Amino acid sequence: MCAFHMLTKKLRRLQSFLSVVSRRASHHAKKQYDVIVVGGGHAGTEAAAAAARVGAETLLVTQKIHTVGALSCNPSIGGVGKGHLVKEVDALDGLCGRAADRAGIYFSILNRRKGPAVWGPRAQLDRQRYRDFIQSELLSTPGLTVVEGSVEELLVVEPNPEIPGQHRVTGIRLANGDHQISASSVVLTTGTFLSGSLFVGETSSPGGRIGDAPSSAGLSHTLRERLGLRTGRLRTGTPPRIVKDSVDLSLATLHPADSHPMPFSFLNTHTHCKPEEQLSCYLTLTTPGVERVVRESLHLNCHIQQDSKGPRYCPSIESRVLRFPGRQHQVWLEPEGVTSDLLYPQGLSMTMPPDVQLRLIREIPPLHRAEIHTPGYGVQYDFVCPTQLSPALQVKNTQGLFLAGQINGTTGYEEAAAQGLWAGVNAARSALSMPAAALSRTESYIGVLIDDLVSRGVTEPYRMFTSRAEFRTSLRPDNADLRLTLKGFEEVGCVSSMRYKEAIRVRDTIQEAIAALQSVSLSTSKWRKKFPACSISESKSSSLTALDFLQYSDMSFDLLALEFPACFSSYKEFSQRLKIEAVYRPHCEKQKKEVERIQREESMALPDDIDYWSLPVSLSQEARETLDRVRPSTLGAATRLEGITPAAIVALLNYVRFKEKNETKTRRHQSNQKREQEEDLFATNASLQH
Ligand code: FAD
Repeated sequence: MCAFHMLTKKLRRLQSFLSVVSRRASHHAKKQYDVIVVGGGHAGTEAAAAAARVGAETLLVTQKIHTVGALSCNPSIGGVGKGHLVKEVDALDGLCGRAADRAGIYFSILNRRKGPAVWGPRAQLDRQRYRDFIQSELLSTPGLTVVEGSVEELLVVEPNPEIPGQHRVTGIRLANGDHQISASSVVLTTGTFLSGSLFVGETSSPGGRIGDAPSSAGLSHTLRERLGLRTGRLRTGTPPRIVKDSVDLSLATLHPADSHPMPFSFLNTHTHCKPEEQLSCYLTLTTPGVERVVRESLHLNCHIQQDSKGPRYCPSIESRVLRFPGRQHQVWLEPEGVTSDLLYPQGLSMTMPPDVQLRLIREIPPLHRAEIHTPGYGVQYDFVCPTQLSPALQVKNTQGLFLAGQINGTTGYEEAAAQGLWAGVNAARSALSMPAAALSRTESYIGVLIDDLVSRGVTEPYRMFTSRAEFRTSLRPDNADLRLTLKGFEEVGCVSSMRYKEAIRVRDTIQEAIAALQSVSLSTSKWRKKFPACSISESKSSSLTALDFLQYSDMSFDLLALEFPACFSSYKEFSQRLKIEAVYRPHCEKQKKEVERIQREESMALPDDIDYWSLPVSLSQEARETLDRVRPSTLGAATRLEGITPAAIVALLNYVRFKEKNETKTRRHQSNQKREQEEDLFATNASLQH
């Protein structure tokens, strides 16, 4: 009865969504938008919502309305590095953090044994709830229209025939008919769909995801042939989904969720799922039988035959056993949703024929009698080499065309969402004639992600890790709101005033609390007397402020508040944030100087028209070739290019300074000349008047 009730509720929700959408679709005859976003995946939904928040009239066109916000692979979000991205997207008023809080059924912090700067907030999600949340948010976003349709072609013009190779996007053409829609900016977020092929066993068929057709050949044609963009081919895969009732979970190790689930969104104080309602995950290991089945079936597995290594960061079970023979590999058995009858076996992505997949999983003890609901499969797709993009994620040779998500060579929902948000922001700003917004790698993981993509490019699917961020002690998940929300409102325009006001309140209260902590100062002996359980190092002989004292691992803000209620109890709401702030403050202060140096360097613009081949400085052929191909927009971006040595950077720096000096000299000379001419003219006029 209960399951029936829930199903009816779900159907009703879907029906109401579809009816609103189709009503909107009937209006899509509108011919002109500021921004069109192609694709309703993780990048597309964030891009569309962000563009609309910035104030652009936005259209989201996607192949199938009911797959908007679908989790193509693992029903989970966050993790080490990825969790940081979710927090940052949320701080910029994006959707995925709030969607995860609504749909999460298992929350845990990965890396908890390490410092909070590199904790990885992660949640297992209910697929349907996640999708419902994203869909309802999009429908309630003012200025955003969602329509179903497949984009067949990008409309582009060459605005100035004198500059061949430079283009401007003017809109899209939909498949099935000649329906064209104009826009000043277009954001392409086609995920794994661009010339996508699906692989199972020895067969392959066109597709972007199981049950979905690939993106039309026309789109690839525009990108490659019309715009001359370099593309590559990448691959990934997904595991079979397993019928929960057929699994003996008593043979796996239980991993319960965190007892205090931590929400992703800075707007939420708690998650929708109550702590005690969370589901559990289980861990098991592969056996030698798994390796045997993989080896015996290699000749039946064309995905693996083409590339036995596969993606490094989401490796298939085939590539894991081939790379590390004789080892046992972890397999996580994770819930797919509250009402779902399926389990997701993380670590068992595979592309062998379905009957072999069944043989393989049954080699794992808890799965001895398991039944497969949907077999695993692989996907191979085109991506656009991201070094052809600017830091705003705009294609360098095509005004108004932005790319985000898996199409840029990344993997993962979080990487896609982060790029989507930023591309959406900049697409809107470009359409509204506002300058591009920038995020540096010193202030955010999103900045790190974009800088890595546009300056280094990718050779395999890119995923985020905390080790990619040089300034990770400052770029923490706990302070993403203080780093980004204020900027998001004041400079970028993608944050609501409600969220902005809340961020101001948080910032002011934390600053006030830190000042209060600094104002309480006691000798170390007094601290020892008050808190005998806290071991203060012997070298500390002088006095310590409460802020210094809070750095000790056995000390918590709540203990301080108990001892000094009048000073601190009003800040208890932020006890964990204050503890983290105290621990990282000394590191962050040291880092601040380094950040300032990098920011100066990063912001030094490299002229667009620089001819690296004729540059009169000592640069290797390889450095010239890389610089010419990537055309980094700043010196900071050039620093991180492969093959660009410190000597090359010094040469570039000197060249830019020399050029700036010369230009200033020329400008000064010209203005002197102009002044002299004006004085002459004035003198002549004056003498004529006399
Ligand atoms: P998607 O979420 O793929 O969304 C693309 C959207 O664009 C879709 O809605 C599609 O319908 C739409 N679209 C495409 N072409 C057109 C067109 N011409 N017109 C209109 N709409 C169009 N990530 C991991 O982190 N780990 C994994 O192990 C992993 N495995 C994966 C396995 C498979 C089989 C697949 C398909 C994906 C996997 N992913 C994995 C990737 C993850 O799904 C993506 O990283 C993420 O969804 C990318 O988001 P996106 O927005 O770029 O693209």
